[in-house]
Amino acid sequence: MMDTDATTRPKAITRLQVQVRGIVQGVGFRPFVYKLAHRLGLSGHVFNSTSGVTIEIEGSKPALDSFLKTLRTEPPQLADIQEITVSHIVPFGVAGFSILHSREEGGAMALVPADAGTCDACWQDFSDPNNRRFGYPFTNCIHCGPRYTITEGIPYDRPSTTMSNFTMCSACAAEYADPNDRRFHAQPNACSLCGPSLALLPRGAALPESFTDTDALPILHHARGLLREGKILAVKGLGGFLFACDATNETAVAELRRRKHRPHKPFALMVRDIDAARALCGITTEDEAALRHLRRPVVILPRRLDTNQVPGIGLSVAPGNNTLGIMLPYTPLHYLLFSDSPQKDSAFSALVMTSGNISEEPIVISNIDALLQLDGVADWFLLHNREIATRVDDSVVRTFEGRERVLRRSRGFTPQALSLASANESVHPSVLAFGAELKNTFCLTRDGHAILSQHIGDLQNYETLQFFEETLAKMKRLFRVTPQAVAYDLHPHYMSTRMALASSIERKIAVQHHHAHIASCMAENHLSGEVIGVALDGTGYGTDGKIWGGEFFTANLGSFSRRAHLRYVPLPGGDAAVRQPWRMALSYLRDAFGPEVPDLACLRAIPLKQRDIVNAMIANQIQTVETSSCGRLFDAVAALLNLFSEVTFEGQAAIALESIALAGVTGGYEFDLHDGEPITIDLRTTILAIVNDLAAGKPAGEISARFHNTLSTVIAATCCRIRDLSGLDRVCLSGGSFQNMVLLRPTVVQLRRHGFQVFLHSMVPANDGGISLGQAAIACERIRTGA
Ligand SMILES: [Zn+2]
Ligand SMILES: [Zn+2]
Ligand SMILES: [Zn+2]
Repeated sequence: MMDTDATTRPKAITRLQVQVRGIVQGVGFRPFVYKLAHRLGLSGHVFNSTSGVTIEIEGSKPALDSFLKTLRTEPPQLADIQEITVSHIVPFGVAGFSILHSREEGGAMALVPADAGTCDACWQDFSDPNNRRFGYPFTNCIHCGPRYTITEGIPYDRPSTTMSNFTMCSACAAEYADPNDRRFHAQPNACSLCGPSLALLPRGAALPESFTDTDALPILHHARGLLREGKILAVKGLGGFLFACDATNETAVAELRRRKHRPHKPFALMVRDIDAARALCGITTEDEAALRHLRRPVVILPRRLDTNQVPGIGLSVAPGNNTLGIMLPYTPLHYLLFSDSPQKDSAFSALVMTSGNISEEPIVISNIDALLQLDGVADWFLLHNREIATRVDDSVVRTFEGRERVLRRSRGFTPQALSLASANESVHPSVLAFGAELKNTFCLTRDGHAILSQHIGDLQNYETLQFFEETLAKMKRLFRVTPQAVAYDLHPHYMSTRMALASSIERKIAVQHHHAHIASCMAENHLSGEVIGVALDGTGYGTDGKIWGGEFFTANLGSFSRRAHLRYVPLPGGDAAVRQPWRMALSYLRDAFGPEVPDLACLRAIPLKQRDIVNAMIANQIQTVETSSCGRLFDAVAALLNLFSEVTFEGQAAIALESIALAGVTGGYEFDLHDGEPITIDLRTTILAIVNDLAAGKPAGEISARFHNTLSTVIAATCCRIRDLSGLDRVCLSGGSFQNMVLLRPTVVQLRRHGFQVFLHSMVPANDGGISLGQAAIACERIRTGA
């Protein structure tokens, strides 16, 4: 009789090939696999390939099952697994597990990790006087540190990063080779003996041939002293230079504004730790999570009114704002500007940290450019000699309903891929979407992934265009994308449109701006089918040649139909009307009252001659287009309340209006919806009521609150009307106006009360930074359906 007892039969050996896709390179994935295989007694090997990580693993079935389970459930913290495919291959019968060299594979795509803020363990290392990395500003490990900003090619290995110039010392090399070390295969691994180092130079000094200081602390102490004296420093960080100054020194902050030619736009602050942030702002649990997240974005937080316990923040940091943009240090270098260790007092309650650029140009990334271009702003330069391969600004987020809402998507986010709404379709077109003109990003798609570029900026100068082109070339190379079509905005004068039309890619897909906003929100929320889309923003070119911006659509990813919009009013003088909100006030007043407008303080402040010119422009339709822009409506109301006659950046008036809105004010103003195709939203009675409230001496904060309430009621009422006509009850909210929390909050409440399902942006900006994703989603859909 044959022995059928399983315990005495030799165990069946299986060999699997496991392909892991997603963010699996540069995040400690191979060492994680290595350790796991050893622990389970499995043999085989692992290597980085151009499409991700490939594992061949051999052993008993239970051990392999356990291996696959842990792979899925306990990956390294920076990893983001998107797909695991497993196939059976012939067992080798060879013992041992090893990490092999990276391999190239034709055409496949790997995802490059984003930069990550310093992890807790590295924090310990550089702040411990007994650690060999004490005070070393470039301390990192497999769980943290630079990634995208040092990556020049794939696979992600040291030779394809800007760390290739540094040869590891024996201690670092030993860590790198030890599978049980946190720095096992950490590509940017370094210490003061072998890695990047600092130099501190005054304005006018020449760049040294080499950086030789191995002790960073004396340099950092000197830098700290300069900041305390009120000096402005240009500090080279992860993705570019930042200007730093003591945020409590009003003279220094005002001087930085003057030199940077940035009169009003808020400056971001960096504070040493969460307690320092709490001293300045009200912080919820989700705000704290956003601040501490390894992405370390700038988080927009409500200012505390009782900031007596800390020296006051300079008035010029964020004039006219009831919020502050705050971030925590994301590299040891930033931390060491405050103190040597957590046990020591911080030298500053906050430092201004703002992009190292002049006006709206891209941030500077090289030492030589900094010395040549930023010398009109910085008194001193804190440089290092690790090259920045890719320029990446700080990201900006705000939290709402427990989630981060990205306002500027850059460091820490880019180049993380988003999976497209249609990822489960079988056809995955590769497209390049050129984005909008302001807050530009572009988007590449491949295999159902959308890769959004970092924030590029306003495409209005040569340097920004160059930045766009460099980044595009790099991303195409890194992700091996060969687009089969380009998508672009309908606006004929956008630089992004001109670039798209000049592209050698033949297939070109035009996308209406607000349809792109809605599609961006749909794509992010993985929606298909038909939705009601509400897109409120400053400017977007309409299919009728007018300037849209207060739009209600029914839409799917392929097409849209305009169901309602704000009543058209004249936009006198195009860009000039954006800079001078009083022009929009006059336009709205004439619309509500006719040519004889009431005598208001906001208009009396404008020279009569200028008013006459604008009156004539509106009356005779000279240099005047019609607009349904919601941004311009905010401008008009801000001007009526006499908050501004002139602004220096788009959205400034709306932010001021949001800032003064009094909490606890209920009720709004009357308005009219006129049925039609599309429905017209008529706010003339609203404007009349605002003027009455002004005449009655009501406080501006109350009028602002009532105006915001009115708009949220308008949105809910219009959506109800569209639901009656279409039967749709899913609403996507998009466009820059929804960054305004005083508008967003009651809008969401009202829509839900009316039974709508509401979808918002989270990981993609609601503003024009999200346009490229929408364009890409629409282009993919049109290619897929042959439209
Ligand atoms: Zn670390
Ligand atoms: Zn070293
Ligand atoms: Zn827009």
